[in-house]
Amino acid sequence: MACSASACQSNCYKTQQEEEAVKANNNTNSFAANISSSNNNSNSGLCLKCKANQPISSNSDGGDDARFCIDCFRGNLFGKFRFAVTSNAMIAPTDNVLVAFSGGPSSRVALQFVHEMHSKAQKNFDACRDRSLPVFGVGVAFVDESSVYSAPSNETDKVIGDVRLIVENLAPPSKELYIVPIESVYSSDSGDGRERLKKLLDAVGDATGREDLLLHLRMLALQKVASQNGYNRLLLGSCVSRIACHVISATVKGQGYSLPADVQYVDARWEIPVVLPLRDCLAKELTMLCRLDGLKTVELIRSPCTGINGLVSSFVTLLQVQSGPSFSYHL
Ligand SMILES: [Zn+2]
Repeated sequence: MACSASACQSNCYKTQQEEEAVKANNNTNSFAANISSSNNNSNSGLCLKCKANQPISSNSDGGDDARFCIDCFRGNLFGKFRFAVTSNAMIAPTDNVLVAFSGGPSSRVALQFVHEMHSKAQKNFDACRDRSLPVFGVGVAFVDESSVYSAPSNETDKVIGDVRLIVENLAPPSKELYIVPIESVYSSDSGDGRERLKKLLDAVGDATGREDLLLHLRMLALQKVASQNGYNRLLLGSCVSRIACHVISATVKGQGYSLPADVQYVDARWEIPVVLPLRDCLAKELTMLCRLDGLKTVELIRSPCTGINGLVSSFVTLLQVQSGPSFSYHL
């Protein structure tokens, strides 16, 4: 929902109600305060939205962190998320949403924003006398890929423990967490599934093919757990930077035919439709929000991308450094 004030040139998504909420939620941590106080923006110097506080950063790359103060930055990111959700009818009150949580900053922000939306809907439900409007359900799924990377069991246990802690520490109502071994796409017997998965991956000779196959298997595992537990929406934290990489790599691989469908807000080609509410947010902004709000993320047990995916990823990162983050939007 764009700001209705005629004088506002910030292209923001925040509503009056959110502004009040942000003012009330004046819990800025010391890290954020230090950034704000030490930052002397050399241009106009003030946040484009509230015109009262200093922007978070003095970068001239056009990112939201250089245009907004901490509160407006947070409110604007949440506004982008909420606008994507409401304008594309991603979540209805009767829906059951499964958030795919990888542990990285993008899915951490997606989980946080869904949680905030859910808490607000629950409060409205509790306050409503006739309780006519149902509240959508939220679950969280983490795909355990340790069998693919042969990670030591203590490292895997630590990652899974951290994921549990993050989900448990979200304020009530509590959310169901599913730890999904990737080999579960084959069978509920993990030993047998592990063998078959290994045989399948070993049969693929090139690095790019293996990564793409693994990505597909990850999605199948998420679809399976969503379907078995009564979820009717699968929510991913894919951001515009990730989508920019996909646009280039899919084009290079000759997958242009399915590309438009891959990058839409709601992908209904799957049995459980996949929704991307952070499609308009930059990876850099999501990482910054995790830092500002102290949102804990998890170090992933994954090999770095190689082959075409690795090349495209470093190419897009280089272009963003040289041309500014808004480059991803142009893609
Ligand atoms: Zn501001």
